[in-house]
Amino acid sequence: MTATLNPADVERVVRDVLNRHLGSRSSGTAPQSSSSDIPVLRSAPAASSPGLKPSAGKRNPLVVNISARHVHLTQEHVEILFGVGATLTPEKDLYQDGYYAAKETVAVVGPRRRMLPNVRVLGPCREDSQVELAFTDGISLGIDLPVRVSGNVNGTPGCVLMGPHGVVDLKQGVIRAMRHVHMGPDDLAYYGVANGDLVHLRIESPGCTTVLEDLAVRAAKGIKLEVHLDTDEGNACNLENATKVELVRPEPCQCKH
Ligand SMILES: [Zn+2]
Repeated sequence: MTATLNPADVERVVRDVLNRHLGSRSSGTAPQSSSSDIPVLRSAPAASSPGLKPSAGKRNPLVVNISARHVHLTQEHVEILFGVGATLTPEKDLYQDGYYAAKETVAVVGPRRRMLPNVRVLGPCREDSQVELAFTDGISLGIDLPVRVSGNVNGTPGCVLMGPHGVVDLKQGVIRAMRHVHMGPDDLAYYGVANGDLVHLRIESPGCTTVLEDLAVRAAKGIKLEVHLDTDEGNACNLENATKVELVRPEPCQCKH
């Protein structure tokens, strides 16, 4: 289904588009949200009541962040895209310790040469490159995005990544990240859940109160309690103006049969 692209051809077309894009930016027309390409803390740590009865463990503030479209890269791909010996340059720390939005961005090119310019690279490098987009982005690019837990990229669509130094023809790794909540050991104990479980997130916001079901619990030591939604989800529930967020554990069926 993925179109075969000649990298040199793509590079020429994309440079042309990028130049025009940058040109229109500097002339002040069509403001492109410059903040939208860096994941931003949208919800202050909530002091609201928890969505379920604590079983044990310490209660941590619940932070809900929008993870805007971004790319994870291998060190090998960093050097292809940004030059031999290049490394990512941390620009903004993310909420989780040790993770950052890099100064570097790439263009993501889909089939039929549609593209998204200036997609932020997140660091540190990973063992597999991966592109995380919202469904809206997928529609723009012409890619039918599968919903996957980050890191599970077998059989997913590919794309072409273009940097200032070169082009990577990514065979797979373009996904819409499944909504999820990062938890540390205290959070697992507090909410009474295990890694891989699914929980719901209730967001109270003016005119847009929403329950998002089936957030995957992703647990690890040293990880802070944090929900990651994508831009489509965050916009749909008006997260920016949310007054309360809470995690809700799905109730098992009460039926005795
Ligand atoms: Zn995440």
